[in-house]
Amino acid sequence: MSHVLEVLKKVYGYDQFRGQQQAIIEAVIAGEDTVTIMPTGGGKSLCYQLPALIRNGLGVVVSPLIALMQDQVDTLHQLGINAVFLNSTQSYREQQEIEHNLKSGHIKLLYIAPERLLMPQTIILLKSIEVALFAIDEAHCISQWGHDFRPVYQQLSILKDHFNNVPLLALTATADQQTKFEIKQKLKIPNAIEFLHSFDRSNIRYHIVESATKEALWGFIQSNHPTDAGVVYCLSKKSVEETALWLEQKGRTALAYHGGLNKDIRAKNQQRFLREDGIIIVATIAFGMGIDKPDVRFVAHMNLPKSIEAYYQETGRAGRDGQPANAWMSYKLQDLVQHKHMLEDSEGSSDFKQIGNQKLNALIDLCESSDCRRISLLSYFDEKLDQPCGNCDNCLNPPEQFDGTIPAQMAISVAYRTQQRFGTAYLIDILVGNMNERIKQNDHHMLPTHGVGKEITKKQWRSIFRQLIAKGLLELQGEYKTLRLTPACREVLQGKRQLQLNKVGKTPVKTPINEASSTKTPDAEKLFEELKKCRAQIAKDGEVPAYIICHNSTLTEIAEVKPTSLEKLYNIRGLGQSRIEKYGQELINVVLKFREDQTKEKNTLKQTNLETLELLKKGLAVENIAKERKLSLSTIQEHCALLIWHRLLNLQSVYDINNDEITEINQHLVAANFSTELRLKPVFEALNERYSYPILKCVAAHLYPCAQSQSE
Ligand code: ADP
Ligand code: ZN
Repeated sequence: MSHVLEVLKKVYGYDQFRGQQQAIIEAVIAGEDTVTIMPTGGGKSLCYQLPALIRNGLGVVVSPLIALMQDQVDTLHQLGINAVFLNSTQSYREQQEIEHNLKSGHIKLLYIAPERLLMPQTIILLKSIEVALFAIDEAHCISQWGHDFRPVYQQLSILKDHFNNVPLLALTATADQQTKFEIKQKLKIPNAIEFLHSFDRSNIRYHIVESATKEALWGFIQSNHPTDAGVVYCLSKKSVEETALWLEQKGRTALAYHGGLNKDIRAKNQQRFLREDGIIIVATIAFGMGIDKPDVRFVAHMNLPKSIEAYYQETGRAGRDGQPANAWMSYKLQDLVQHKHMLEDSEGSSDFKQIGNQKLNALIDLCESSDCRRISLLSYFDEKLDQPCGNCDNCLNPPEQFDGTIPAQMAISVAYRTQQRFGTAYLIDILVGNMNERIKQNDHHMLPTHGVGKEITKKQWRSIFRQLIAKGLLELQGEYKTLRLTPACREVLQGKRQLQLNKVGKTPVKTPINEASSTKTPDAEKLFEELKKCRAQIAKDGEVPAYIICHNSTLTEIAEVKPTSLEKLYNIRGLGQSRIEKYGQELINVVLKFREDQTKEKNTLKQTNLETLELLKKGLAVENIAKERKLSLSTIQEHCALLIWHRLLNLQSVYDINNDEITEINQHLVAANFSTELRLKPVFEALNERYSYPILKCVAAHLYPCAQSQSE
C-alpha cells in the first residue's frame, strides 16, 4: 500500500481517495503549487491536511471563516492531530501561548485569519520555524469581481516573496476562468498545477414545484425526513417566524434565523442547529455562510432565490457528507415579481440591474423546464452532463406535456390587445371571460379574446404565462409588472413555431423518498438510534458538535455490521486509530448491549410469532403464511404488528404502503392522541374505514415503538 493510502486509513479511517485527492496530495508532497476547484463537500480539507502530516514542518491554513476554525481544530483533535488556530476571538494570553507552542515544533496544522497571518510578527515567527505548506482556503475571495471579495486576500501575494520554496495550495468551490486567473496571478503561482472537478453534487436530489402550500412542505419533510436536520429558506422575516412556529406545532424542533433577531438569539439557534440532532432551521438567506454541518439532509426553499448561483449555493448546504440529500423548492410568479421590485429599488447601476434580471430569468427557465434539472443547472456553469441524471424530479417523474401553441397565441394576443398595460391576473380574467368592474370599465369584455380561454383553468393559465416568460416570449415590465411582448413572439403568433408546454396539476405531490433514511433494516435503525444517543453523550462531555465525534454514515455502518470487538471497528469507514482509541469501546458496548437485548426480546416472543417471522423472511405473503400454518389471516397480521413493534420486521416489507399513506395515517394517529390513548377505533373511523385494523396496527407499531397498541 502506498504511504499516503496508509495514512488515510490509519488517521481518517477511509479506504479510498475521492476524485483527484491523491494526485493533489502527491503534487503538494513533491513541493508543487496547486489550484484546486472542487464543489462543497468534495473533500478539500484532506488535500492540505494529509500532506501537512507527511511533510516536515507546520501546515498553515488561511481561512476567512473564523467561526469555523474551532470546529476544524476540534475535528483534527478527534483524529489525533495536533492543531491550533489563531484569530481575533482569542485573548492576548491565549495567543501568546499558541505562538510559544508553534515554536516548539509539535504542532502540525495552524488555522489562521489572513489579517493575522499578514502581521509582521507572524511572518517573522513562521520564518523562524519550518513551514510544510500554505493552504489558501476560499481562494476566490481574492477576486475583485466575485461576490466574496476580501481586499486583505490580495496581500497574500507576499507569501511567495517570503517563502519561495514552500508549496502553496489555493482551494475554492467557486471559480470561473477569470477567478482562476486572478488566483494564480495574485498569489504569484503562475505555474501551479490545476485540479478542476465537476460541480455536480450527485447526491443531492432536486425537486422544484410550483406554488406549494405549507402543508406540501410538511408532506415533504414528514415523509422524507421525519427526524433529519434541514434548512428551510423563506424570503421574509415574518414568514420565517410563522413557518418556524408552524413546524414546532407539527412536532419538530424548528428555530428561526434572520437579520431582525438579536445577535445572541441568532448565535444560540445556530449553535443548537450544529450541536443537536434533527433540528430544522428556518432562515432568510442570511443563514449559511460558514455552516459546515455535514449531515444537513434537506434544504427547502419556500420562495425563489435570486439566481441560479444562489440556488446552487444554498442547496449545496445539504449533504456535504456525500450521503443522499434532498433539495426541494416551491416558487411562484409573485416571487419573481417581488425580486424584480427589489432589484429596481436597489442602489445598483443599470448594468447591475440588467444582469440581475437576466439571472432571475435563467432561474425561472430552470424552474419551468421539463428537462433534467441537473443538466440545466450544470449547463449554467458551462458543464455538460452526458445523460439525464435520474436523480431529479423531472427524471423520476417526467411532467406531462401538451401542444400549447394555440393557448400561447391567445395569451400573447390578449396582452397585445390590451396595449401591454396589464399584469397576469387581469389578463387571465379576460381569457376566462370574467365580467368584473375593471374589465367592463376598460371595455375589455368587448375584445375578441374575452372568454376564448374558458376551457382552461386559471391555474393552468398561470402556468402557461410563467412558461411563456421562462421561454422569453413575454417579459415583466415596469413598476406594475405588466406583460410585454418580445420579438420572439412573432414566430408563435404566425404559427411558425410550435410550443410544447407542461401540464399542471399532476406535479408530484409524492416526493421521491430519500433512500438514505429508508434502506436500514429495522434492527439497524434501532441500533443506529442507540449509537446516536451514545455519540450525543460523548459530544456533550467533550463540548463539541456530534458530527465532530463521527458522521452518521459511520454510525449507520456500525449499526449494520454490528461489530463486537475493537479490531472489527477498524473496518468501519471514518474510524481511524485515534477515534477508536478515544471511544471505540463505548460504541462496542452499545452494540453488545443491543445484541443482548435482542436475544432477550426474541425469547419473550412466543414460538408461533417467530415461525411467522421465519416464513416472512423466506418471502411468503401474509395470506400464504396463514394458509400454510392453518391459522386465520388476522392472527398472522397480529404477529406482524408484534414483530414490527419489536423492530424485527419492516412495515413496508409486509404491506405495500407508501410514505404518503403513512403520513396520512399518522396525522389521524396524532389527532386521536394515539401515543397515550392507544385506541385505533377513532382513527379507523376518521379514515372512513379505508385501512383495515391490522394495517393501522402495524403502522402504529412502526411509528410508535414505545406505545403498545391494543386491539379493538
Ligand atoms: P469541502 O471542504 O470540500 O467542502 P470537506 O473537506 O469538509 O469538504 O469534506 C467533506 C466530507 O467528506 C468530510 O466529512 C470528509 O470527512 C469526507 N471525505 C473527504 N475525503 C474523503 C474520502 N477520501 N473518503 C471518504 N470521505 C471523505
Ligand atoms: Zn435529472
